[in-house]
Amino acid sequence: MNIPFNKPYLTGKESHYLYDAVSTGKLSGNGKYTQLCQSHLENTYGFEKCLLTTSCTDALEMAAILINIEPGDEVIMPSYTFVSTANAFVLRGAKIVFADSRSDHPGFDEATLENLITDKTKAIVPVHYAGVACDMDCIMKIADKHNLFVIEDAAQAIDSYYVFKDGSKKALGSIGHLAAFSFHETKNIIAGEGGMLVVNDNQFAKRAEIIWEKGTNRSAFFRGEVDKYGWVDVGSSFLPSELISSFLWAQIENIQSIQNKRKVLWDLYYKLLQVWANDNEIKMPFVPNFATNNAHMFYLICKNVKQRTVIIDTLRSANVHAVFHYLSLHKSPFYSDKHDGRDLPYTDNYSECLVRLPLFYELSTEEIYHIVKVLLNCKFDG
Ligand SMILES: *Cc1c(COP(=O)(O)O)cnc(C)c1O
Repeated sequence: MNIPFNKPYLTGKESHYLYDAVSTGKLSGNGKYTQLCQSHLENTYGFEKCLLTTSCTDALEMAAILINIEPGDEVIMPSYTFVSTANAFVLRGAKIVFADSRSDHPGFDEATLENLITDKTKAIVPVHYAGVACDMDCIMKIADKHNLFVIEDAAQAIDSYYVFKDGSKKALGSIGHLAAFSFHETKNIIAGEGGMLVVNDNQFAKRAEIIWEKGTNRSAFFRGEVDKYGWVDVGSSFLPSELISSFLWAQIENIQSIQNKRKVLWDLYYKLLQVWANDNEIKMPFVPNFATNNAHMFYLICKNVKQRTVIIDTLRSANVHAVFHYLSLHKSPFYSDKHDGRDLPYTDNYSECLVRLPLFYELSTEEIYHIVKVLLNCKFDG
């Protein structure tokens, strides 16, 4: 048995829609499939406006342009995240103020947020790690009070929700002023490389389309709102071709079965590992009561780096590929000399102790039993 960390899942309809897109002769962006994907996701998740992009990285870069990030502006985000979360804002001259993670979850610790706000702060970028919500109610209240923009890095958070105190729910990505999703092959629904910007604050809607279309008002022209189109703002080539969106459409159509399957596998891991984890001082993934689980990731938090190394090595010798995750951005070669020097102990802890287990649609329950058996036989002493 050889179990990879991830295996991209194909629903079987991708080639059908790709063929259809090719035969219509319209291959560039913003055609039938782009619009199908966008309107379906808007209707399903209550997003105000969706624009497909070539990646989540691009969607974050669009967000940084939209909120007019200028040199010297400060943007608050967790240090435990992917480089693109920070890079998108650094490209426009922002200073990144890194926040620590929660003690019970790798997501952003909202309790530390208010102390990090200065008169230069322009935006907060919560990252919904593992598709598990940050405390959005708390973050939005702080943002409102200080007049800041909130951009959700929802790269991993498709089909996941924030649960309010009264029990009502809102989809992640529908709460901040802007949000960015990823359809990279490692995410729950995929397009190879792909992403999406969600615009919830209407003040950004028109300009988002212009930035998306290389700084032109071509979208308005195609709708017949203007009689010619030209260069009206900055922008870039952020929209994906119909080849990408037709592929994505097959995934979106099957999102519920993909999600159901992933949750079954996630729950099985949880059930089988709970006692063992407790006996070995290993922490299981935690989902706060204001969050739901979209089964993006199954991870364990080891008691130290030595224990994690034993787990990764033991699994590897059984041909199971488990991997660690982010290295603290505040200690990265690129940013360490720009960081303000604060210690971020939880970030460093997740950086050293978190390990992710294989989780993908075609992972069988038999394979999970095999992985669990290998874990239960790990020798942590000597
Ligand atoms: C995957 C990911 C990204 C980047 O997504 P791309 O589509 O590859 O650009 C950004 N942020 C987080 C938290 C991610 O997990």
